[in-house]
Amino acid sequence: MKSLISLFLLSFVLHVSGSEEWCYQTKGSCKGPENWKTIDKICGGDRQSPINIVTKATQLDKRLTQFNLTGYKTVFDSTVKKNSHTIEVTINTTATVSGGNLEDTYKPLQFHLHWGTNGVRGSEHTIDGEQYPMEESNSDNKNFENLINVLRSIQNKSDEVPIKNISASQFLLPEENMTSYYRYNGSLTVPNCSESVIWTVFEKPIPLSKKQLEFFSSLKLSDGTPMVGTFRPIQLRFGRTVYRSSGPAVLASVVLLFVSIITTCSLSHLC
Ligand SMILES: [Zn+2]
Repeated sequence: MKSLISLFLLSFVLHVSGSEEWCYQTKGSCKGPENWKTIDKICGGDRQSPINIVTKATQLDKRLTQFNLTGYKTVFDSTVKKNSHTIEVTINTTATVSGGNLEDTYKPLQFHLHWGTNGVRGSEHTIDGEQYPMEESNSDNKNFENLINVLRSIQNKSDEVPIKNISASQFLLPEENMTSYYRYNGSLTVPNCSESVIWTVFEKPIPLSKKQLEFFSSLKLSDGTPMVGTFRPIQLRFGRTVYRSSGPAVLASVVLLFVSIITTCSLSHLC
């Protein structure tokens, strides 16, 4: 039995929340994405994320070489936080990323996930208009099992719970698949929508089984409503150029459309 695998996004980003209540679907007093600019006017700016990446319009940039990663395999204990927007794991160890034409060395602080409904439509960035790929996968991604098990224990509430023996690398692509990616200047995808994010959108997907994706769609907010559609709609590009690395798999005929995302944030602004 083949499974439909949705786009699963993984980002390393520092989310800075605004003080006013925001959400992904306007409800009661909380503001959905169309109204985030009333929380912070930057959310209506011209360098916002996510965007649709039109592969034919991307520019090859030979400086987009492979990344140098350190500390990603270090095993550590941490916490998983579930709130009304996302689930988030603190990177409780020192890992760094440099290279790939990043101007500095960055340290990931946390990662969090975005997902859709019933295992489909969950990515923030799209490639050639596709929000989710179809990829055939029969088996569970073992690297996500401990995270799923921990989340199972807090399925219906907001909480922070311990998670043991994890490493940053288990939630990322294998390093050899991190050479094909897109790069552009964008923003945080939640309020305050700060426009100081250098996005790296990897072309290769992180495969999860249908069962695993459905698990994320089954999570509930503390008021019992389903925690689904936790992504911001795409934003206008406003003439920004998207660059592509010269990794061998970046071709017009991409079948595997997505993606994990490393968002590196400028140390001077965010970290
Ligand atoms: Zn995010």
